[in-house]
Amino acid sequence: MNAADSFAFLLPFILLTFGTVFLIVSRYEKRPALSWAAGFSLAALGFAGPALLFWLPVPLMALICDTLFIGAFFFYGQALLEQFQVKGKPEAGKDAAAAYSGVRMGIAATGFLAVAYVDLFLGRLDLEVIVNDTTCVLLLALPLLMCIRKARHWLEAGLLMMIGLVLLETVLRNVVMAILSHMPRQLEAFAASDYAAVMRICASFFGLLFALFALASVARDVLIRYRHAAECDPLTGMLNRRGFELAVTGGGDPAGAVLVCDIDHFKRINDDYGHQHGDRVLVVMAGLLTRYLPARAVAARFGGEEFVIFLPGYDLAEAEVLANMLRLAIASHAWREVGVDRQVTASFGCAVGATADRSVHERIARADANLYAAKHDGRNRVVALPVPPERERPAAGKPVIVSPVRSYSR
Ligand code: GH3
Ligand code: MG
Ligand code: MG
Repeated sequence: MNAADSFAFLLPFILLTFGTVFLIVSRYEKRPALSWAAGFSLAALGFAGPALLFWLPVPLMALICDTLFIGAFFFYGQALLEQFQVKGKPEAGKDAAAAYSGVRMGIAATGFLAVAYVDLFLGRLDLEVIVNDTTCVLLLALPLLMCIRKARHWLEAGLLMMIGLVLLETVLRNVVMAILSHMPRQLEAFAASDYAAVMRICASFFGLLFALFALASVARDVLIRYRHAAECDPLTGMLNRRGFELAVTGGGDPAGAVLVCDIDHFKRINDDYGHQHGDRVLVVMAGLLTRYLPARAVAARFGGEEFVIFLPGYDLAEAEVLANMLRLAIASHAWREVGVDRQVTASFGCAVGATADRSVHERIARADANLYAAKHDGRNRVVALPVPPERERPAAGKPVIVSPVRSYSR
């Protein structure tokens, strides 16, 4: 086996490896990984075709390889549309997978018929190369144009750029080699042609980068989605307890206040209006809380109808003022809009850190105790009792003044 033969196997092997990796990724997220898997696997088979199908008559082998490439580019385009979530006409209600599939299938079918005619009836290599490459370029250029403004991060921008380069290289290769320079006319001359050698080198280089960008951007999406699922509450879209802890304690134990908010008599809302209405109240509640919070605040649903908010840099008095504003916004909201014909209220507990605290959890526990006091005192109120004196360990010569006055407001 000479160097050219080993090279001929290396490219399909690399592409097949990517196809397999995408197939594994598709178990976790079907689209667009499955389409990328189909694209790279078909391209691998297309490149391996001449070595594997040497026993077939050349025109038939050429047609099979051409068809595999057309299929590969069809699925690359499909994957691109799925990844960038290009929707069909909204009124038609189509999803990305179906978007423009008619046009792309038309291009693929026309290309296949033209290539079949050139391969089987004319046996012309120069025409076959041009027809097949034009079909492939069109199949990928159309989706590329639709996605060009939709890159959400640098990996997707890189992917689009790599696809642009793949297309540019294919067009230039055709112009220079198939049109301007002398190209053998017989299909049989393909394997030994300069065109085949240049195509393999360029496909290895650009194809590898293209596949790497596609894999990296799909893997990023999968990781982000799983992370979102692990750290967010699906009903309200807010952080859950885990997400809250990561967001707040990620950079150590920051100074600030904690609010704990609990809807009053929520069970009655469920009982009187049904669980679905209860859910809607929770969603609106999450919206109200986040609307009035400062940008740096971290808000989470800790389960049930309890919300926890961290306010970086806030002292107890500032937290109490904000909590009261939130309480009034909730109590004055037009709950009729979600089908609940009564005033929904919530109680709040506030707390700030104490020097003896080891983590933010102690602040949450104190805010919880204040919430309990707010419930006990009649609900729809804010309690912001300061840290009990025994929790404070004053530094020498610096007495901490703790107000003995219970601070709550209504
Ligand atoms: P309190 O004023 O003392 O807080 O009374 P409450 O009724 O709000 O509190 P309780 O703990 O007795 O009831 C909480 C209810 O919240 C019970 C549970 O069915 C309901 N709940 C918990 N999670 C959900 C949810 O995701 N959706 C809905 N609709 N209800 C929920
Ligand atoms: Mg409650
Ligand atoms: Mg509760």
